[in-house]
Amino acid sequence: MRAMVTSGTGPGAPGRAGVPQVLSVANLRKAYGDKAAVDGVSFEVKRGEIVGLLGPNGAGKTTTINMVLGVLEPTAGTIHIERLNLAAQRSAALELTNFAAVYSPLPGNLSVYQNLRVFGLIYGVKDLGARIAELLEQFDLVEYRDVKCGVLSSGEQTRVALAKAMLNRPHLLLLDEPTASLDPATARDLRARIREFAAQGTGGVLWTSHNMYEVEEVCDRVLFLSHGKVLLEGDPRSLPREHGQPSLEELFITVAREPLALERS
Ligand code: ATP
Repeated sequence: MRAMVTSGTGPGAPGRAGVPQVLSVANLRKAYGDKAAVDGVSFEVKRGEIVGLLGPNGAGKTTTINMVLGVLEPTAGTIHIERLNLAAQRSAALELTNFAAVYSPLPGNLSVYQNLRVFGLIYGVKDLGARIAELLEQFDLVEYRDVKCGVLSSGEQTRVALAKAMLNRPHLLLLDEPTASLDPATARDLRARIREFAAQGTGGVLWTSHNMYEVEEVCDRVLFLSHGKVLLEGDPRSLPREHGQPSLEELFITVAREPLALERS
């Protein structure tokens, strides 16, 4: 099998198909003592693109996402959101970003409306009342407007988290396992909404998931991380064939079990 290397064309510069990047990560590294959780990772996300960040438990996905969110400081490497260097223009860069993650629920003692209002004020969203009304409609949350988030079902809470993530019309949307714990119908509905967001062409999405069926359905491109390195990159529908595997799941299992064999070949 052949390991593929990601190529950079400069932050914010037009990517391969002439579409500008919303995210450019170059030689990113995060070390804890002697151990590198993320070890020299480079990749891009373009406008209108959904990129899957895949890898087994402990591969470095969440660490990567937390560095892009400015929550963790990289040991080395650079992150550009559009043309903004996150280290040097942090506030401006983060204004273009938002995220939703299952492990980061919204405050449960606030209602749906209160949560959206608080986050909208934090993000400095203009015409906030109208934006909240629009999102309540878009995510079928009108009937839950005054219900405390803590009593909502997982699927309802995920819809609120996504509405919150859309408040500032992000150019870069980070989704860490957004469909974990959702029933199949709700998960499909959520994927459709994320695809609609990407299809508008102003934002790109970085998506982590352990569900290979979902990744094949929703992602334009995937990156396989293992032990903090990108081992493979490509179209989730053609990558398995290119590497002699019958499915993305089989390829994933092979990469997770034998990353060194892949690096050598
Ligand atoms: P999962 O699919 O299980 O969520 P992941 O790919 O998101 O995994 P990370 O959470 O990024 O993996 O962790 C990458 C590695 O870094 C793991 O081996 C983890 O134990 C280690 N790690 C993460 N945070 C710390 C920390 N604060 N101190 C030491 N090691 C850490």
